[in-house]
Amino acid sequence: MSINVTTTCPYCGVGCGVRAAVDDNGAVSIAGDEGHPANAGRLCSKGAALGDTTGLDGRLLHPEVRGERTDWDTALDAVADGFRDVIEQHGPEAVAFYVSGQLLTEDYYVANKLMKGFIGSGNIDTNSRLCMSSAVAGHMRAFGEDVVPGCYEDFEAADLIVLVGSNTAWCHPIVYRRIEAARAARPDLKLVVIDPQCTTTAEDADLHLPVAPGQDVALFNGLLAHLEAGGHIDSSFVDAHTEGAFAALAAARRSGNTAELARTTGIAEADLDCFFDWFGATERTVTVFSQGVNQSSAGTDKVNAIINCHLLTGRIGRAGTGPFSITGQPNAMGGREVGGLANTLAAHRDFDAADSVATFWRAPYIAREPGLKAVDLFQAIGDGRVKAVWIMATNPLVSLPDADAARAALEACDLVVVSDCEGATDTLACADIRLPAAAWGEKDGTVTNSERCISRQRPFLPVPGSAQPDWWIVTEVARRLGHGAAFDYDSPHDIFREHAALSAHDNDGRHVFDIGGLANLTRAEYDALEPLQWPVPASRTRDSRHGTAAKRLFADGRFPTKSGRARFVAVTPRGPANAPDTDYPLVLNTGRVRDHWHTMTRTGRSARLSAHVDEPFATLHPQDAQVFGLRDGALARLDTRWGHMLARVRIDPGQARGSVFVPMHWNGQTASAGRVGALVNPVVDPLSGEPEFKHTPLRVSAFAAR
Ligand code: SF4
Repeated sequence: MSINVTTTCPYCGVGCGVRAAVDDNGAVSIAGDEGHPANAGRLCSKGAALGDTTGLDGRLLHPEVRGERTDWDTALDAVADGFRDVIEQHGPEAVAFYVSGQLLTEDYYVANKLMKGFIGSGNIDTNSRLCMSSAVAGHMRAFGEDVVPGCYEDFEAADLIVLVGSNTAWCHPIVYRRIEAARAARPDLKLVVIDPQCTTTAEDADLHLPVAPGQDVALFNGLLAHLEAGGHIDSSFVDAHTEGAFAALAAARRSGNTAELARTTGIAEADLDCFFDWFGATERTVTVFSQGVNQSSAGTDKVNAIINCHLLTGRIGRAGTGPFSITGQPNAMGGREVGGLANTLAAHRDFDAADSVATFWRAPYIAREPGLKAVDLFQAIGDGRVKAVWIMATNPLVSLPDADAARAALEACDLVVVSDCEGATDTLACADIRLPAAAWGEKDGTVTNSERCISRQRPFLPVPGSAQPDWWIVTEVARRLGHGAAFDYDSPHDIFREHAALSAHDNDGRHVFDIGGLANLTRAEYDALEPLQWPVPASRTRDSRHGTAAKRLFADGRFPTKSGRARFVAVTPRGPANAPDTDYPLVLNTGRVRDHWHTMTRTGRSARLSAHVDEPFATLHPQDAQVFGLRDGALARLDTRWGHMLARVRIDPGQARGSVFVPMHWNGQTASAGRVGALVNPVVDPLSGEPEFKHTPLRVSAFAAR
């Protein structure tokens, strides 16, 4: 019998709707969901190739304990016994979970509840730490809560779109196609791209500002000072709805005049003037930022420097305006909602709400302090403070900075549990216990995209072998640890209702994240749930698929801070932590290619996706290639103080001088040449804990095979 479902793409944070069909012979076909507000039927190359990735080759299909295939009871008992022993001997801070933006919200919710509410440690962090935690920290400083104020429609309503540190055309392709369509319909819509590299996105821009690495704060401070000097302050908004403008402006004025700023940022003076004039004169301006901003030791300050400019001009909460953080992963936002970051609790609450959350959960041992963030967590595993770790749906031995040190940490750890659908990842190779998880197409639950839109992921394939959904695996371990009453769930529907109810619990109206209106969904209503943006408080009817109530937040000028005002943050430019030197004279900048996702465990299965780029490469400016004696197409050895790898040389005049771009995707299973994560310095932003993936001093030399 053929099957047809609407579901959601499992790759990027655009969160496109997908129609999946399985015919009588089991063949999967994929199309865009015309009714989904994110994509209206469009799919990018990765989404269109989803059907290539649903086969069972390479799947982990049965539990294994220390290399031996076993049954679920044996494996789950081994996990629970191992965690219980460590907790009894060394306390709850000696165990940890490391989870993923690939998890569905329901999976994420129970993992967070178990660690923070019932084990009693804050040690659950997520791979989303690596891509958007600076945006979270910046939102919390400015707004009092981690909230993206606008929606994708704002890109189409804007007269000026500023893309900062985002190769949107490759990394969030359907959002970019919406921008392209809007520009085609309205040629007066201007696009500015701020990026050290001349990316595919930058090539299309009306104005490309190749900012020097790490100088985004200087650039946006310069813009803030220009907005003040040019009389572009929305005084009524600033006076009534913000605080801290005086200090932020004082800091911004120190950025100097345009000539000084041109020297600092590396941007031509005329281009700076043009950008400042366009921004000052254009009421409907959206500033979209992504990994080029977030993945920095000053990432949070960069986010706030951008937000400051929108607060000064009052350009927030209205159509075509606002700062907009576009996230990398399919459920980075859902993970933020449930408190999947070590420094948040649940339902966008801080640890000062521990008593309230403990009451709701009836949790005996709630964590009262934030746990270890990703890089610190793996360092704690390495030095023995954390003795048992459970890694869910992610491959940190490829994606973390200083990835060789992370591998050594896992190899030395007393107990490593990995639950994954994939059967051959670098991380799985280090696992003592392997737990087979259901994959996309088999899983059932919800995800939230970059514009706060909750969408259903629905199953259309049978769960193969002994695989189980992540929420079930966590729940079974919780029961074995003695917490069965609090984890008495029969389905993701039960979990979602509890998550929704918690968001409304003790909410005095200050917290924006409130989906209490979904707390009483019947199973049939949950199954049929159409995409909708939060907040969805109990007072909001949910009969409108494209309702306007939640499209834009802060329209009334009220913010979820204690004072009700948005906060300017005075920021001072701070360069990258490690500067190039004579031994390592270049800078390594990592990022994505168009047709691969994360560590390629799924997209690597698709021949048509792999055809775009089939091996690791390093892109250099022609003059750098000449200086270091490198030919286009030759093999090069890349060295940093943390590791080394081989890559094919690409020479491109669009590459910034002094900078070398290397994609993040290739893993130890697919490329004997090495993993770029092993080269990246483990420096993090002090507030967000996000690593500095865009700036590691590097040496490149021609590779001579022996
Ligand atoms: Fe999937 Fe993102 Fe492509 Fe949409 S843009 S189809 S969510 S990868």
